[in-house]
Amino acid sequence: MNRRSIGLPLVVGITLMVLALLLGIGWQVLVVGDLGPVTRGLTAVHWTFMILGSAFFVLIIVGLLLLIIWLVREIRLNQRQQAFLDAVTHEMKTPLASLRLYVETLLRHDPAVVRRREFLGRMEQDVERLERTVDQVLIAARADARAKAPDEVTDLTALVEEVAEEIRRLFTLEPGAIVLSRRRAVSALGDRGELGVVVRNLLENAVKYSAPEVQIYVDLEPVGDRVELVIADRGIGIAAADLGRIFDRFARVGRDVQRQAGLGLGLFIVWNLVRRNGGKVVARSEGLGRGSEFRVSLRAAEGAA
Ligand code: ADP
Repeated sequence: MNRRSIGLPLVVGITLMVLALLLGIGWQVLVVGDLGPVTRGLTAVHWTFMILGSAFFVLIIVGLLLLIIWLVREIRLNQRQQAFLDAVTHEMKTPLASLRLYVETLLRHDPAVVRRREFLGRMEQDVERLERTVDQVLIAARADARAKAPDEVTDLTALVEEVAEEIRRLFTLEPGAIVLSRRRAVSALGDRGELGVVVRNLLENAVKYSAPEVQIYVDLEPVGDRVELVIADRGIGIAAADLGRIFDRFARVGRDVQRQAGLGLGLFIVWNLVRRNGGKVVARSEGLGRGSEFRVSLRAAEGAA
């Protein structure tokens, strides 16, 4: 379904609402106004029916309005699902095609050891890419379960350092591309595996949407009985109008975003996992081209530094 297809249901819905409104007002003017002798001899029962009729009219119009909003939302979700399917197909097919090529070359040409090592290294990257895609889909499928995650004390500082190192390796970044401002141990309550996914998705986005120069600041701050994790980048930024929907399932916003590989699931997963772990996440951006900041607030673990 393309973007224009929202226009038709919107026009039909709004026209219907305007017609219903005109009909309702015209009918009242005819009955109550000076236009005809209709009101002469009306009893209290007639008036009751008239007031009830007017109330039903208002209800019908409100119902129509809600139906239009629901319809537009469903159409948007449908469009996002379509884009998601295209993205999944692309994210699966590209590494698979590459893997097939390397396997065939290895089988047919039996290259020298150095070349073979190089091929195997690239094959490993393809397998990692496939793994990440499958993981994202599986985690997203489970993430919106309402159950609460098991409480455990997680050393956030160590976790952030570990994930940052993984991301540096994955995107071949300089050590200074991701700067951790706090090296003192800060711990939070929450499932270590799930919090790791949160940090990984946020850092991966910060890198992906920062091209060409990656400069990411990570801060861990104890605030009362909470711990705040802030991940800020100097990347492409997010328009104010889009900030409200980036955490939706399959949401991908901005014009440049399609150039980056992605399924529109990363932030949906972040939002759900943070909530499951008793936390909150908010996004901020000064606007397009002015970087983004994601602030995750978690429950501090007792005895945290
Ligand atoms: P994707 O797979 O597209 O990265 P996400 O759910 O992780 O999906 O993010 C949703 C959308 O939010 C992205 O497509 C992008 O438009 C926007 N976004 C997320 N993180 C950032 C960021 N750090 N800077 C700018 N835009 C971002």
